Amino acid sequence: MHFPHLFVTLHSRMSENTDLYTQAAQRLTEYIKGKNIRKTPERFEILRIICQTPGIFSIDQLQEIMEKEAKFNVSRVTLFNTLRLLEDASLVIKHTLARAAHYECCITPHPLVCLVCQKCGTVKKLESSKIENWLSEQKCKQFVISQPVLYFHGLCRSCIVKNSIRNRKEKTKRKETKTKTKIQKK
Ligand SMILES: [Zn+2]
Repeated sequence: MHFPHLFVTLHSRMSENTDLYTQAAQRLTEYIKGKNIRKTPERFEILRIICQTPGIFSIDQLQEIMEKEAKFNVSRVTLFNTLRLLEDASLVIKHTLARAAHYECCITPHPLVCLVCQKCGTVKKLESSKIENWLSEQKCKQFVISQPVLYFHGLCRSCIVKNSIRNRKEKTKRKETKTKTKIQKK
C-alpha cells in the first residue's frame, strides 16, 4: 500500500516536530530507566519517525515510512514490540479496530474522533473544536479520562463510489437478462 499524502506532509512537519521529539525522547529515557530496560537506538529512531508522522497509522504504514523516509529497515516484530513499549510509556495510543490495530502519537493527549470504514478498514481523524468543548462539559465522576477517543463506523468516500458503481452494473445486468428472456419468450 502507498500513502503519498503521508509523505508530503511528513517533510513539511519535520522541523516543527523536533521539539515534540525532544520531549518524547526525554520521557522515553525516563521510562526506560525506571523499567531497567535496554536503551536501543532503534526505539528512539522509531519514536522520532512517529513524532513526525501525522495522524493514525498501521504497522504496515509505519514500516513503509521507516524504509522510504528514514532509510531504516526494521522488522515488524521490532516495530510491534516498540509500539507496545511506547504505548506503555503513554507516548502512543493504540486504536483496536475491526481489521488491524492502528496507532497514533499522543505525547500531548487531546480528544480524538476516528472515522472507521467498515469496508476497506481505513481510519481518518476528524478534528472538531465542538467535540473538545462537549467533552470538557462532561462530568465523569470517579473516573479520570487519560485519552478521550470516539469511533464512528461507516463507509469512506471511495467505498461509497465503488458501491454505487457496482450497484449500477448489477442493475444494468438485471435489465439485460430481463430483455433477453422477453426476446426468447417471443
Ligand atoms: Zn472504505
